[in-house]
Order: sequence, then structure tokens, then C-alpha cells
Amino acid sequence: MQMPQLKDTYPLYLNNRAEQPNTDLEVIDKYTGEVAFRVAQADPEIIDKAIAGAVAATGPMARLASYERKAVLEHCVSRFRERFDELAYALCVEAGKPIGDSEGEVTRLIDTFVIAAEESTRMYGEVMPLDISERAKGYQSIWKRYPVGPCSFISPFNFPLNLAAHKIAPAIAVGCPFVMKPASKTPLGAIIIGEILAETDLPEGAFSILPASRDGADLFTEDERLKLLSFTGSPAVGWALKAKSGKKKVVLELGGNAAVIVDRDADLEDALERIVFGAFYQSGQSCIGVQRILIHEEVYDRFKEMLVEKTKTLKAGDPKDRDTFIGPMIDEGEAQRLKGWIDEAVGHGATLLCGGGCKGNMLEATLLEGVDKHAKVLNEEAFGPLAILQPFATMDEALEEVNRSEFGLQAGIFTRDLFAMFDAWDRLEVGGIVINDVPSYRVDNMPYGGVKDSGLGREGIRFAMEDMTEIRNLVIRRT
Ligand code: NAD
Repeated sequence: MQMPQLKDTYPLYLNNRAEQPNTDLEVIDKYTGEVAFRVAQADPEIIDKAIAGAVAATGPMARLASYERKAVLEHCVSRFRERFDELAYALCVEAGKPIGDSEGEVTRLIDTFVIAAEESTRMYGEVMPLDISERAKGYQSIWKRYPVGPCSFISPFNFPLNLAAHKIAPAIAVGCPFVMKPASKTPLGAIIIGEILAETDLPEGAFSILPASRDGADLFTEDERLKLLSFTGSPAVGWALKAKSGKKKVVLELGGNAAVIVDRDADLEDALERIVFGAFYQSGQSCIGVQRILIHEEVYDRFKEMLVEKTKTLKAGDPKDRDTFIGPMIDEGEAQRLKGWIDEAVGHGATLLCGGGCKGNMLEATLLEGVDKHAKVLNEEAFGPLAILQPFATMDEALEEVNRSEFGLQAGIFTRDLFAMFDAWDRLEVGGIVINDVPSYRVDNMPYGGVKDSGLGREGIRFAMEDMTEIRNLVIRRT
């Protein structure tokens, strides 16, 4: 692929328009460590103007017909297709995401907008008979959904395009104006979506995309004019922001330490490919990356050997190189943090099966076994290229071990046993269970989100659209 050119500077988007008040934010190429480009940052005054613009756009957005909302989303789809290579390259540079994975994310971005375009014409309501007793004879109800109004969106660094899209696309589908703060380490994905939205005739104030430093960031959470906060990021930040968000509806898509169970009857070759991918793609920087691999004791030794052998073949290096599977982590601090946890676990008796080395922000794909039950690597979110092997004797034991976590995003089970599948569905405390694949599996229209410390509410277009709307009921008495 011919590498596309990125610009030296990028604007922010205030009330649908590009503005370049400064170029304060330096964005680093995560592999070379050099400044790749600069981006304008919003100060509190700009954020205040954006929120006022969103308030003014509330009525005009709510009055857009569904074919008009759909047309905006379809415009984005065609422009994403035209700019596919540039979008993938931007992700590769700003997030250090291997180019194949970056292309995968652009494909998912397109899917997300296609689904939203379809769903935008399906905001159905319901006619309900109310005559359930004598006093309601002659009454019926009709309800439908209305947009909640101005929304506040905060997105994380690891999927700069598609996780911004999971907020932006449903907001347009229902007719909510929004202000968005992308992650400061990877703001470009959302800015390019802003550039494309600016080509449409959405009402003025419909959207603002505002990279912001911490001093302005509080407005995204605390300003009472905003009616919904949808946050994707770390559990510590997410729960703290919820506490400051006042009367807003709050959706939190947070982290986890996802587990996969390999039953004794599993197809081990098939499980191997998927589990190694789930543990190490994007250098493990996925909220549903495989962190805990629970393996039935009858197949433990054999599967361990297969995992170690396969993991050692993963090529690490420059994410722009098509052969690279393991790219850099987002920064050296994050790589050192996880390296410290690995060393601590080994110091407390864990066995290092492979990996463990770290240079700058490149941490090797690492497998551990024999980890102490209280170790950070097992209980906290690793968010890096690390997985832990644990043997189990019965499915009961495996399900209990999965549930021992404070988190509950998704879990995977490789099994051919229908009973085990339904039992796990009933008993696992997670937002989603994936049979015969890894917890890292996600398609963009499925309900997606967590329980326990992993979050509140669901994304997946239709489900986000429900959050971004309120039911308004009409009661009719027949006289
Ligand atoms: P983070 O919590 O550090 O930052 C997320 C966003 O919040 C960024 O835009 C950041 O600038 C912003 N932010 C941080 N402090 C803030 C404050 N006080 N006020 C307003 N905004 C603030 O997370 P991250 O490092 O960017 O992303 C990694 C985390 O995100 C991991 O925990 C991962 O599991 C989680 N994640 C969850 C999902 C999901 O869908 N459940 C998806 C991807 C990532």
C-alpha cells in the first residue's frame, strides 16, 4: 500500500465548523516516538460555546425526518470508503495499531454507520391497550421515542474511530446534537469523522469534536445543559465521572480482565488460533482482550504447549509493516506498568512461559502460569500483551473462577456441550457470552457492554439509540 500523507496540523470542530485556535496538542507516532502532527485543543470557553450550540440545535435536530438523518449517515459511509487508506494509516500512526488491524477498524467503522443508517428509519413505538380493568375501560396508550437532547461523549485511545462512531452514529440516527472529547493520545480518528460530518447540512450546533486538556474536560461531565454522558474508558475514570454527572443519564463502557474457558471436548486447533488472536491483537489493548485462559486439566499440558509455541511465532515490530502482529503499546509508561506487574507475579512464584521482555513501549507477548490468586496480573485489567493460564477440574469451578473477577464484560467458552453452554449463559456475571470463540469477539450491531465494575448500559446502535431517547406516552380515552 502507498502510505497516504497526513497533514501537519488538524483543526477542532466547533458547532459543525473547523476552527484552529491553536495547535497545542502534539500527537506522537507511537512507533517512532516522533511528533506526527499537531491538533487544536478546546479551552473551557470553546467547550461552553459548543454546549450552547448543541442546546440551540436540539429542536432542529429532533425535527429532522428519518430520511434526512439516514442521508447524513450514508454520506459518511461513502466518504469513509473513499478515504479508507488514509483512515487506516491515521490509526496506524496515532495508535501504533498494526496496519491490518487498522484496516479492520475502518471496516467496522463503515459497518457501524451502515447499521445506524438502517436503524435511523426504525424508531418504532407501540400501541398498548390499557383496558386491563374496569377503571381503564375505553383507554389506550401510544408511545414513541423522542431524542434526549444534547449529549456528551468521551472516547478512549484504543479504537479511535469505531468507539467514537458507536456514540456519533446513533446520536445522528435519533437526532441528538452532541459534543465529543476524543482521547488526547489519539484524537485524529474523531477529527476526520468531524471533517466528513462538516460536509453535510446537519443543523448548526449539531456536533462539536473537541480535543481538550483536563481543565476543560470537566464541562463534558458536569454541565447541566447536557442530558446524557456516554463514556468509554477506564473503570477508575468512568465511575469517578458518573459521580460528578448530576442528573444526566449515564452510559459507561469500561474495562475488564476477560476470561476464556477451554473445555475438555474443545477443538484445540480452532481454539488456539482464536485465543492467541484474542490475547495479543493490538498488543492486548482491548477491553475484551483475553487475559485469563481457563483450561480443563485433561487437556491443560497439551494446550499449554500449543499456546506457547504459537505465541513465540508472533512477529513484533513496526505497525506499518504488514507482517507485524505485535506493535507498540500506547506509551512507555503503560508498558513499564504491565512489565512491573509481570515481574511482581514472577517474584511471588508464577512461571514465565514466554515473553516478559520490554524495550521502550514494546512489551513481548507474555504467557504466565501458577499465578498467585491475589496478583495484580490476575485481578486488575492488564490492558497489554499478557495472558494467564489456569487449569480447572469441573465446569462449576471454571464458572466460579470467571465470576471471581470484579469485572464482567464478556466471556468465551470453547465447548461442544449444549448443557454447559446454557448453564454458563445463566450463571456467568457478564454482559455477553461467546460460545466457540473468544470474549474479544464483537460485531457492531450486537448488544455490547458490561456488568459489575465493567460498566452500565449497552452500545450496539439500537441499544445506544434507546439510551439516547426517552419514551413519551400518549393516553387516549374513547368518549
Ligand atoms: P481513560 O479512562 O484514561 O481515558 C478515556 C477518556 O477519558 C479519554 O478521552 C481521556 O482523555 C478522558 N478522561 C480522562 N480523565 C478525564 C476526566 N477527569 N474528565 C473527562 N475526561 C477524562 O482510558 P484510556 O486509557 O483512553 O482507554 C483504555 C481504557 O478504556 C481501558 O480500561 C479499556 O478497557 C477501556 N475501554 C473500554 C471499552 C468498552 O467498550 N467497554 C472499549 C475500549 C476501551
